[in-house]
Amino acid sequence: MDVAIVSQRGPLEYIDGQLNPQGYAPELLSHVANLSQITLRYRPYDSLADAILALQQGRVDMLASGPQHRRLSPFVHYARPTVGQPIALFNLLDAPRITQLESLSGHVVAVVEGSAAQERLFVQFPDIKVRSFSNVQQALGAVVAGEAQAVLGGSDEVNQRLRSNLQWRFQQSLELAEPEYHRFAVADEHEILLNLLNRGIATLSDKHFEQRYDYWLSQNPTQEAGMNLPVTRIIMVIGSVMVLLVIWLFNRRSLRRQRAHSQSLEAQLEHWKTHDDSTGLPNRHMLTQMLEDHLVAAKPISVLMFDFPRQEEIYENFGQRLGEAAKEAYAKRVNMRIKQRYPDATLAFWHHHYFVVLLPAVLEEDKLQSLSKLIIQTCRGWLRLEQLQLLTRCHVGYASYNPQTEALSADVLLGHAYIALSHAVKHESSVCAYHSSLSQTGMMRLTLESRLRKAIENDELTLYLQPQFCLDSRRLIGAEVLVRWFTASGSISPAEFVPVAEETGLVLQLDRWVFERSMQLLARLSQRLPADFKLSVNFSASTVSLGHAERIAISYAKKWQINPQRVCIEITESAMMEQPSEAKSSIQRMRNAGFGIAIDDFGTGYSSMAYLKHLPVTLLKIDRAFISEIDENISDQHIVKAMVMIAKSMNYKVLIEGVETQAQANLAAVIGCEWAQGFLFSKPISERDFASRYLNDAALESNAKRLTSVQ
Ligand code: C2E
Ligand code: CA
Repeated sequence: MDVAIVSQRGPLEYIDGQLNPQGYAPELLSHVANLSQITLRYRPYDSLADAILALQQGRVDMLASGPQHRRLSPFVHYARPTVGQPIALFNLLDAPRITQLESLSGHVVAVVEGSAAQERLFVQFPDIKVRSFSNVQQALGAVVAGEAQAVLGGSDEVNQRLRSNLQWRFQQSLELAEPEYHRFAVADEHEILLNLLNRGIATLSDKHFEQRYDYWLSQNPTQEAGMNLPVTRIIMVIGSVMVLLVIWLFNRRSLRRQRAHSQSLEAQLEHWKTHDDSTGLPNRHMLTQMLEDHLVAAKPISVLMFDFPRQEEIYENFGQRLGEAAKEAYAKRVNMRIKQRYPDATLAFWHHHYFVVLLPAVLEEDKLQSLSKLIIQTCRGWLRLEQLQLLTRCHVGYASYNPQTEALSADVLLGHAYIALSHAVKHESSVCAYHSSLSQTGMMRLTLESRLRKAIENDELTLYLQPQFCLDSRRLIGAEVLVRWFTASGSISPAEFVPVAEETGLVLQLDRWVFERSMQLLARLSQRLPADFKLSVNFSASTVSLGHAERIAISYAKKWQINPQRVCIEITESAMMEQPSEAKSSIQRMRNAGFGIAIDDFGTGYSSMAYLKHLPVTLLKIDRAFISEIDENISDQHIVKAMVMIAKSMNYKVLIEGVETQAQANLAAVIGCEWAQGFLFSKPISERDFASRYLNDAALESNAKRLTSVQ
């Protein structure tokens, strides 16, 4: 039987200095396999994710300890559990203790890819941002580097790692209710093997499991196991001066070996602290240090920043391992080309999906433009890796430091390059050079971003509702949720902050917040709402395309016990058109779950009608641009008429947005629009006003009467 064993997962399993399998799981497995005379062949893997992949691809028959994880569970049978360890949260000792996982909403929690902890977060706490790593060491390192707030993992596994990294000072903050059990995981087709293992396990007592687990818990999996054994034997057997000499020699050698080992560990640690794990490039710390050195020495330098634009999408769809490999391949390609032309240049990884090229002594605009072009040309094209085929294209922003004209810090210089890059991305130009006028809008956006982040965390946003009506009967048929941000210095329009949230990635938190609060609102009002009332909630394009919308919609509707039939999800037309095929199937799954799907701002994008036919849409919302002049502009009337006809031929309902006058409402009805929303009926209003205006007894009664008269 081929057994996958993960190299650094003590006390459950690890590979020692002599490349032998060690730990609780291999020991137990050897024992039960001996009883049933099963021959084992261990296959070592660097990460749990790789071991799971090996089992999925049939390269191994079982895992020495198989986590409860959706990537593994469909392929295996689990043997009887033996011992359990709590799944716990660890954060830095000098940070506040975390007493509730929910308080981490909006923060990043580091987990091991494929671990039971990752699965628990996915299922129970979908609104927590998760970053996954190959092993516990890397996850802890991310917290130390400030890239994550906490690590969630098996408490014994994490504590054992921390014991061998004493410079890292963490506290165990919180335990999840259900522990993580050790279980052998056997590929589906080996049911007989599973029975044999279970039979072997049944011959041992719980006490035995606990004692052996405690033993492995007390070991240090980073030491070279087995090293003391021959020494002890030699002392016992001979006990002579010669042996003492041998021991002395041995000790000297082993001391030297240990010293060399610890030196290489130190060097490794140093390398790890200053280099990015997946690309091997200098990381943010080293980059900042290199820049500071230049600035302190008053030497001119230019900083070019470029992005790896589809990183999140790759990680989401293909997982951490392939994501890292793609990033590495991308970095390698650029590094080679740059070095050929500019041997003095250094490529470094800044953070998230940003790379930086440092070019000493160069300030000339034409040279910077030509290096930018080189980067863009190198990045443009296909990246092929296993099942991944990706068309990449990057943008470049650059800034320079001239000691004769200014004094800057490394962070400010990097900030300038970032502002230039953001400008290039926003305006869809390939290259942008930094100039001070960019800073002002950039600074305003940065402030807005950090204020918005706090506003979401502190629940300072509010939901307003804009009612929607049937044009014929004037019956209330639904409402759209629109977010409002009231601050001490006045209100900020969503038209201003939603785009900032979209650019900075904060929109996922915003959409999640709005959706959960919308479900709560529905739960509060549900008894008083008309039977066919639907609440419409907006999702931004990126939340949909990254596949989060489905998870958010399904989990929060379930959490607040809302029937999805009561909810309509609004996605703008242009976002619909951009959806990759995975996102389209995610929209389909939301539809299958019962949610209504509306195409928002219809008419402003360039949907092909053939394409529209294949979308699982229930409602078309015609953009208000078409209604504003409909009573004067005959061509707008024709356009709306055509849209209505097409929608009806596809069995979509039609709602016209932005109706402000009675004349517009009459025309829209004549043209065939069924439903409408706009200032003529009501501006967006607070929940209290909405309830008192539309859900009081008299209003509900007249609404019900209108419904019966329509039927
Ligand atoms: P939208 O989805 O097209 O929302 C309709 C916008 O039109 C709202 O502006 C609404 O107040 C406004 N409106 C409604 N009736 C009339 C009318 O008769 N005349 C005029 N002139 N305007 C009317 P608001 O609330 O400022 O929202 C602007 C945009 O911000 C929304 O456009 C939507 O794209 C975004 N947004 C608002 N709330 C959310 C949210 O909760 N999540 C997300 N992702 N986006 C949101
Ligand atoms: Ca909308």
